[in-house]
Amino acid sequence: MPEANAVVVGAGAAGLSLAHRLAESVPGLRTPSVVLVDAPPGPLRPPPRTWCYWTAEPGRFDAAVRAEWQRLRVRPRTGAPVEGNIAPLRYRMIRSDDFERVVSRDLARSPTVRRLEGTVETVEDVPGGAHVRLRDAHGRTRVPSVRWVFDSRPPGSLPAARTTLLQHFHGWFVRTARPVFDPAAVELMDFRTPQPAHGLSFGYVLPTSPCEALVEYTEFSAHPLTPDGCEAAVRHYADDILRLGERQVPAGETGVIAMTDAPVPRQTGASAFRIGAAGGATRPATGYTFAGLQRQTRAVADALRRADTARCPPPPTRGARASWTPSCSAPWTAAGSTARNCSAASSPACPWHGCCGSSTETPARTRTCPSACARLPGRCCDPPWTCPACPATPSTCPRLPPPGTRRRPHEPAA
Ligand SMILES: Cc1cc2nc3c(=O)[nH]c(=O)nc-3n(C[C@H](O)[C@H](O)[C@H](O)COP(=O)(O)OP(=O)(O)OC[C@H]3O[C@@H](n4cnc5c(N)ncnc54)[C@H](O)[C@@H]3O)c2cc1C
Repeated sequence: MPEANAVVVGAGAAGLSLAHRLAESVPGLRTPSVVLVDAPPGPLRPPPRTWCYWTAEPGRFDAAVRAEWQRLRVRPRTGAPVEGNIAPLRYRMIRSDDFERVVSRDLARSPTVRRLEGTVETVEDVPGGAHVRLRDAHGRTRVPSVRWVFDSRPPGSLPAARTTLLQHFHGWFVRTARPVFDPAAVELMDFRTPQPAHGLSFGYVLPTSPCEALVEYTEFSAHPLTPDGCEAAVRHYADDILRLGERQVPAGETGVIAMTDAPVPRQTGASAFRIGAAGGATRPATGYTFAGLQRQTRAVADALRRADTARCPPPPTRGARASWTPSCSAPWTAAGSTARNCSAASSPACPWHGCCGSSTETPARTRTCPSACARLPGRCCDPPWTCPACPATPSTCPRLPPPGTRRRPHEPAA
């Protein structure tokens, strides 16, 4: 008998978001029992960071939003800056400490989410679920048995890719002696920073008052930069380009993420899925992850809540990674059987697996996939039905990217 319906591994942005969604009680739907496991304080825990994202709607984590803007500015290397108002969108900033506090407060009230501190060592498929082997802070081993595992641990290595770049973030929370910032506008990308021989760099400024801002240096590079190099770069940006004058730096943030077009394996076992950055939520071209992992965890939570135990929740697919419609994230929960919601809706096994070309695919299941799917063997979770605006099949859709490219039609640039 499983100890819980789901284990969520990791309490970063993805793990906390998923646990928060699963803790919510929705009339008429079940509330799964969840164990949220995070590594004890130490090297496995990521340092605090700041997440920005675009949104037009109020969101479930608004209580953690520190600041928001509607005017954005981009500065080319030379010439006048380009400025725009993004209404009705807002560019929002959340600091991870605030996010953790807000989510933890809500989870503490949940009767269905239990938190554990421990280092997860392995996740192993067993009949009817999975065993999660973890070591607690006292060195004791525990092996909870669960139905589903959603794992946000960073993968040890990245799969081979056409392109992999490292995006470095190195920022200062600056307090200046005189008012130098325009709190109404974000400097989204400032390309006046010295450009590396290989790669790209820019600065950005997230102002919270005329005298306070997060001033950050960003560089895309093939190889890791040194901490001293990052520190020198942000100093140059703050002092020589922005000319902030007298200033204090009470805190900072630093980090590096991978930007890759590698296909990230999102399912690691019959009952185990990856979520968050580990599950492909990072947008390869920009590194933005927070909005993507919200779409992804919403899709996972919806499916888990609706599915009975004979069906599986959706893997965080490429569709969930950049999906603009919830229907493509949980196709078989939608009523009816169209190409967009995968025709095997009533199958006792997970229809998505069948039509996504995973190891559980069978010829019979393949035949139940919609005809559009059959024309894209192994790619039936890609267009056309991740594209809500386009009912055409792959062969007729003028908006689909040429074969072999990954970008979705109608994909927003940001
Ligand atoms: C400095 C910085 C700034 C960024 N800014 C933005 C931004 O503005 N907008 C945006 O969209 N994205 C941004 N990103 C990218 C992205 O949002 C983050 O990388 C995001 O934090 C990923 O969240 P995650 O939950 O997937 O992974 P993580 O935050 O890495 O969480 C992984 C979790 O797993 C836990 N863990 C690890 N190993 C184990 C183990 N063995 N057992 C148990 N638990 C374990 C860790 O403790 C952690 O809680 C930024 C990244 C950085 C580094």
